[in-house]
Amino acid sequence: MKKQNGVFLQIAQLGHPVLREKAQEVKNVDDPRLQSLIDDLIATVMDADGVGIAAPQVYQPIRLFIIASHPNPRYPNAPTMKPTAVINPTIIYRSKDKKKDWEGCLSVPGIRALVPRHKVVKVRYSTRTGKSIEREFTDFVARIFQHEYDHLEGVIFLDRLTSSKDIISEK
Ligand code: ZN
Repeated sequence: MKKQNGVFLQIAQLGHPVLREKAQEVKNVDDPRLQSLIDDLIATVMDADGVGIAAPQVYQPIRLFIIASHPNPRYPNAPTMKPTAVINPTIIYRSKDKKKDWEGCLSVPGIRALVPRHKVVKVRYSTRTGKSIEREFTDFVARIFQHEYDHLEGVIFLDRLTSSKDIISEK
């Protein structure tokens, strides 16, 4: 993957306390340090061929994550979307309907697990230009959103499993 604006950041691994903290609200979206962190998160998730990354995963416990759905060997049917920064999100609706599907996490390398997630979520968040928007996400992108949102709450996908038999080694 081509390096774009940002630099690649080190990713916190499971066991580091930063992954278990509740992240703090972003106060100033215009802060140039926040804007360059967004660029770095996008560069880092693309370099790792991930579909999402949250700021606490790079040791920054603030309410910011990137969703970057695109087809890759792990998720060949993923829809393609431009990497999108999500700031101070809230989930305003969750469908009753849940579905189990495979997830992994850049902070938990080598492990995949079947995670139940709501099929549809309606969300509100600030864009990187400070605009507040509401969007509905379904299926795979809704799954990414819920996974990344959990990182802001100190929750890891393994916490969501209904059975430890739903864990496999990626190999
Ligand atoms: Zn993750």
